[in-house]
This record gives sequence, structure tokens and C-alpha cells, in this order.
Amino acid sequence: ATVLISGASGFIALHIVSQLLKQNYKVIGTVRSNEKRAKLLRQFQHNPNLFLEIVPDISQSNAFENVFKRHGHEIRYVLHTSSPFYYDTTEYENDLLIPALEGTKNILNSIKRYAADTVERVVVTSSCTAIITLAKTSDPSVVFTEQSWNEATWENCQVDGINAYFASKKFAEKAAWDFARENAGHIRFKLTTVNPSLVFGPQLFDEDVCEHLNTSCEIINGLIHAPANGTPSDLHSIFTDVRDVAQAHLYAFQREDTAGKRLVVSNGKFGDQDILDILNKDFPQLNGVIPLGKPGTGDQVTSPGATTDNSVTRELLGFEFKSLHQTVHDTAVQILRKENRQ
Ligand code: NDP
Repeated sequence: ATVLISGASGFIALHIVSQLLKQNYKVIGTVRSNEKRAKLLRQFQHNPNLFLEIVPDISQSNAFENVFKRHGHEIRYVLHTSSPFYYDTTEYENDLLIPALEGTKNILNSIKRYAADTVERVVVTSSCTAIITLAKTSDPSVVFTEQSWNEATWENCQVDGINAYFASKKFAEKAAWDFARENAGHIRFKLTTVNPSLVFGPQLFDEDVCEHLNTSCEIINGLIHAPANGTPSDLHSIFTDVRDVAQAHLYAFQREDTAGKRLVVSNGKFGDQDILDILNKDFPQLNGVIPLGKPGTGDQVTSPGATTDNSVTRELLGFEFKSLHQTVHDTAVQILRKENRQ
């Protein structure tokens, strides 16, 4: 069967493409440029089941038209992963909100127009940021679940990159559910969303480890390169591993019981101190080179505040999520190998 995946060059998407190819799917990926196309084809060793099309900007209303004109008749599953993920902008609408929202609407409209009868399942990569209301994260009485929605509005989210990114994912996901409901009589597909927390883990290819990594892995990369006299920040969040997130994307279209669901893929809280403890314990070459902080005190930072309960998703997916230790360890091993510091 043929799977279309948007944003195939992304950190998470590469792991999904790899798992799809291993399971013998024909994969049509979209990337933004010829250079990325050539690079990916080389990295996947010109796998005959991998086809790449160029979609320079998902915000353009006709972004996916050509892809569907050419391949629509054979695409059975669509995974929409592409969306801007960075905080470093003040152009909140142009850089974050509009591409996230319009990109989602554009791919869904192209399915309806060109592949309404052939596409059976659609998976939109959403995020825990579509679930979590930032203003409530320090309230210990709050529990976020598969039912929760970020309460940000289009106007009030435009205060900083983090708030705008969080909201961009909420508006995009909401548009997907609205689309599925409003077009129920005109489309065949069932929708599933995958809502990961911050995603760690190795890049699929060592060569993609560079000075600055994708937004989530950069948290670990930053601590590996933090000066010994630095102090860990009080920032904390929830994490998951990229290989689990990729697996969830496959189950999201392969299994009947995931149709219509929001899959919240997360394995608990973490803070800087927890990551530093793992780095200092597992990698003696980092001792005295990176901060030590106050080992063992991570939960003093992470335990207060709101919690996320994704027991419904855990039960549904039925596999064990990778631990913080494993995901941080594997991320660091790859970075240190690339820097000849193993
Ligand atoms: P990446 O930045 O590695 O991947 C994002 C992908 O989207 C890239 O291929 C990027 O292309 C593409 N893209 C972004 N904007 C556009 C645009 N306007 N037009 C066309 N393509 C675009 O990030 P991740 O792999 O981490 O993220 C993938 C998805 O997962 C996103 O939807 C993100 O919101 C979601 N997510 C990520 C989490 C994480 O912690 N990593 C957590 C929860 C959700 P290019 O690189 O060429 O610009």
C-alpha cells in the first residue's frame, strides 16, 4: 500500500519513513527543495519504494495539488507531519500560525478533491501543545488528558514564540477534526492525531547531527555543551522518544481501534537536572565539563504543577514507552560519537 508523508525530511518524519520502508510500504514523501530530495534519496540508499515530491511551502493553497494529481489514485494513507517547529520568531502569524493551519487544511482539501475514494486513513501530527494550556501548567489541580484542548486564542497567543507555537498546533489539529466532521459525506478517510510531548532520541542518520539540532533535541545538545559553572534552569516539560512517536504514527493508520482518536504519546516529566544526572552518570568524559547541578533533586522542580494523564493512549497503543534514561542516553551517544568524544 502507498503512504504519503508530508515533511519527510523532518526529525520525526525520517524515523516514520524508515519504519514504513522496513514494513514494505511504498512511500511518497514531500520535501521543500531539490537539495533535500537528493540528500534523502541518497540517505535511504535509493530505496526503490521511496518517491519524493517537492512542496516548497505548505501554506500555499495549491501546495499539494500536483502531488495528488500525480499520485492521488494510489494513496491509501496520509501522514501530515510538516509544520513549523521553532520559537525564535516574532512573525507569529506568518511563520507559525498560518503555515500550521493552512498546511493542514490544504492537504485535507487536496485529499477531498483528488483522492476522496482512495484515502482510507489520515494521521495528523499534532502535539501535546494542542492539549496543554500554558497558563495552567503550574496549577497542581489540573490534569491534561486526551480530551483537553489548549485554550489559547488566535489573538492572545501572539505574545512570544512559545505561546504562538503551542497555539499553532491547536488551531491546526482543530481544523483537521472540523474538516473530518464537516466533510463526512464527501470523504472516506478516518482521522487520527498523534500528540507527542517533547521528542528526544537520535537523529535517524548520524550525518544530520550538527551544531544546532531540531528544537526538542537541542535541549539535550545544549546541556551537553553547557559550561561546568552553569546552573540548570527550572524549565521542565514532558518527554517522549522519537522511535515511539514513529511507531504511534504507524499504529495510527494500521489499527482499527485508533481511528477517531487523539494519541497522546508521552512518558512523563523531566527537567534539566534529570538530563544532567543521566549525562554525568553515563558519560564520564562529561564530568567536570558540564554542570553537575544538585544530583537527584530533579523532582523538586518537576513534581509541582499540572500533570498529564495519557493512560487511555498507553492502553490503546499497548507498548512500553522508552524511558528518559534511554532516550537521553541514545541522543547523547550519537552526539558524542559525531564529535569524537565517545
Ligand atoms: P522538524 O523541524 O525536524 O520537522 C518539521 C518539518 O516540517 C520539516 O521537514 C520542515 O521542512 C517542514 N516544514 C515546516 N514548515 C514548512 C512549510 N511552511 N512548508 C513546507 N514544509 C514545512 O521538526 P519535528 O520533526 O520535531 O516535527 C515534526 C512534527 O511533529 C511537527 O508537526 C511538530 O509540530 C510535531 N511535534 C514535534 C515535537 C518535538 O518535540 N519534536 C513534539 C510534538 C509535536 P524544512 O526542515 O525543510 O524547513
